Amino acid sequence: MIDDPDFVSGKTVGTQTHNDKCVFRRSDGRCSVQVYGDESGAGAWTYKPFYCIAFPIVVCDGVLTFDDYQQGIARCCSIVDEHAAPLIDSCKDELEYILGKEGYGELLLLRDRYAAEGTK
Ligand code: SF4
Repeated sequence: MIDDPDFVSGKTVGTQTHNDKCVFRRSDGRCSVQVYGDESGAGAWTYKPFYCIAFPIVVCDGVLTFDDYQQGIARCCSIVDEHAAPLIDSCKDELEYILGKEGYGELLLLRDRYAAEGTK
């Protein structure tokens, strides 16, 4: 466990790997903690690590941003040209998880304000 002020607790620990894959990754590629949460009725994200829920959205040095680590590698974590919805819409659930519904609402207001001002 290491100190990391970008996490709510101020601490973080990575998942362990085996054969260069997360130990929670199933042979079918699905996340076993997400599948268990979903199938148990607790909720898909109940047991999943914060970083895994939020990805590709991350908080880095206090800044909410997109992590391009899997850009072009994992389609689900990439920005693709033919996807009509911008990231702020396509990652709504992740952003609400990080910011809360109120915080996500504020983000939308900022987006709208910057769009109206012609800036990004
Ligand atoms: S989502 Fe996270 S916990 Fe689940 S398999 Fe991937 S890295 Fe592991």
